[in-house]
Amino acid sequence: MTVVSEAKQQNRPLVIAIDGPSGSGKSSTSRGVATRLGLAFLDTGAMYRAATWLVLESGADISDHAAIGRLVGEAVYTIGLDPRDATIAINGTDVTAAIREPRVSAAVSQVATNLQVRADLVARQRELIIQAEDGIVAEGRDITTVVAPDADVRVLLVADPVARVARRHAELGDKVDQEAVTDQVIRRDRDDSTVAQFEAAAPGVTVIDSTHLTLEQVIDAICALADANCSVKAAT
Ligand code: C5P
Repeated sequence: MTVVSEAKQQNRPLVIAIDGPSGSGKSSTSRGVATRLGLAFLDTGAMYRAATWLVLESGADISDHAAIGRLVGEAVYTIGLDPRDATIAINGTDVTAAIREPRVSAAVSQVATNLQVRADLVARQRELIIQAEDGIVAEGRDITTVVAPDADVRVLLVADPVARVARRHAELGDKVDQEAVTDQVIRRDRDDSTVAQFEAAAPGVTVIDSTHLTLEQVIDAICALADANCSVKAAT
């Protein structure tokens, strides 16, 4: 029996968890898998980014852990889980585009390493996963280990650091210099890894190295892990 049909038979939603460092292709891959399998998509990084946007907008002292924990804990998130149109609003403001600004990327690790913030967002993420009646692909840094360790499919997506920096550079375009991109990828991962273990796979987690694979090949590999007939589902 496939993982997909087993989940269906047990009348519970399929959960696919994907972790990895920045530039590993997590987001595009997770969106692609969710689209093919008709599942919801949760970008947990977007939640940390929205929290960071709120902190920056509020003018609060980012190093005041208790104040930041309170501010983020009291926030209201509205998250659109459609993989073709993922959106996020915080306290009524749509920040889907604003959370990609360099100032947010530069500050996000500081907010994400606040343990009060993590506890709050992990609880919200678990709730969103439980409520996804048709199943979900959730991606981040600690999904396979902390948020959804019981997920049906757990993948750690990795890629060579040079490839990760090159991918992020291509995404951001020529207006961003190499040093800034390297900071966004390498420094951010180093800071993030102090609170989330995403550099080595936990037991039961499948490692996929995307360095020499196309996006479609990575999506195929994850769909194969779910033992789903992706092409049939994609056509429906
Ligand atoms: O995935 P993305 O690069 O958008 O994530 C932004 C930041 O959010 C990461 O650099 C990390 O600090 C934080 N994050 C996290 N745990 C997750 C997802 C993201 O700490 N599950």
